[in-house]
Amino acid sequence: MTSDNQDEHLLGAVASALVTIDELRDLTVFQMPYPATVQRALDRIVLHCLRRYARPPKSVPGLVRWGYERHLGGWPLTLPDGVYPADGFLVDAESGAPTALCHEIALCAETDNPLQEASRRMATMTDLASEYSQAPAYGTLRGVLATHPVLTNDLLNNVRFANRLGALDEHLGDFYHPIGLEYEIDGAVFPCANCSTPLRLTAAGSWWCEREECGTGGAVSPGAPLDWDAKVLMQMGRKHRQFVSGPGRTVLRIANSLKLPGVTVRRWPVHGPGDLRVELPGVHAWTALIVDWHSPVLLGRAIAVAMSRYGADTAIWVVAQYRVDADPDYLRVVREHATVATGTPQVCSEEEFTDMVRRHSKESGHA
Ligand SMILES: [Zn+2]
Repeated sequence: MTSDNQDEHLLGAVASALVTIDELRDLTVFQMPYPATVQRALDRIVLHCLRRYARPPKSVPGLVRWGYERHLGGWPLTLPDGVYPADGFLVDAESGAPTALCHEIALCAETDNPLQEASRRMATMTDLASEYSQAPAYGTLRGVLATHPVLTNDLLNNVRFANRLGALDEHLGDFYHPIGLEYEIDGAVFPCANCSTPLRLTAAGSWWCEREECGTGGAVSPGAPLDWDAKVLMQMGRKHRQFVSGPGRTVLRIANSLKLPGVTVRRWPVHGPGDLRVELPGVHAWTALIVDWHSPVLLGRAIAVAMSRYGADTAIWVVAQYRVDADPDYLRVVREHATVATGTPQVCSEEEFTDMVRRHSKESGHA
């Protein structure tokens, strides 16, 4: 994190601790005492509260309770204006899991370059694909990860059989871990009907999907259940699912909608930046980076870092449509916070991007 606001650092440490606690919720790996980072975050917030004459959380469970009972505006922190939504929460009250916003705050606190850090594992895969001259295998792997947040042992083998992963084939299994007990409901796991991510059943009896996209259109509903005994595997860590494979769904959706005459689309090219390379041969070429963040401010800051360090200013940042639909100001705020000395990046919505390509395709006489 580049900010020198101490309260903002503290919020980052707390968000990071809440993410760590959530990862410990699988009781098979739970051990006392709490990890040092969690204990340290609690100690820091307690000390901070005492200095501000505020009543501190008494324990780690008390800190978690703050996460879902107190909106950010109610924390005894002096945060920079307009960065953190006053009505935002760190923990979702229904599921008890950290919110997408909490994961974004944690990621930004843990690294100076969030967009690069979130996809570090994929960078190893691009290196491998490049080394073996198997660029298409990387795009195929990304497609598999975007499509299958959950698999059984048998389904994993089917996916490997159905997709040409080449040198990356032996690494596919590394992205999947045995699913946690919190997803077991009456001997089954229920993937989300919309995105296939395993759902949690809330205390109120409703379904909760970790992808905010699924809750925006109404109630979340389960698809066909997977038998718990079929050895269900979940795609690794929420950070990876939220920042890498989740936005991959948007990449696939855009690629699908750009099946137009004269337009070539490459998904996840190995050489050079971008999630999509879209070309009207001889006329136009675009490199698009697809992003799907809850907070437009934190996203803008992350883009600013990526631009200033890696020169991604020739690419277009494309925001998942449902984010823009939910907040008419979203793109403006991203641009405002993504602006660096060398300029303002191109930021647009999913629909603006596909409309632009369609228009150029038409003008060039293809469609
Ligand atoms: Zn879902």
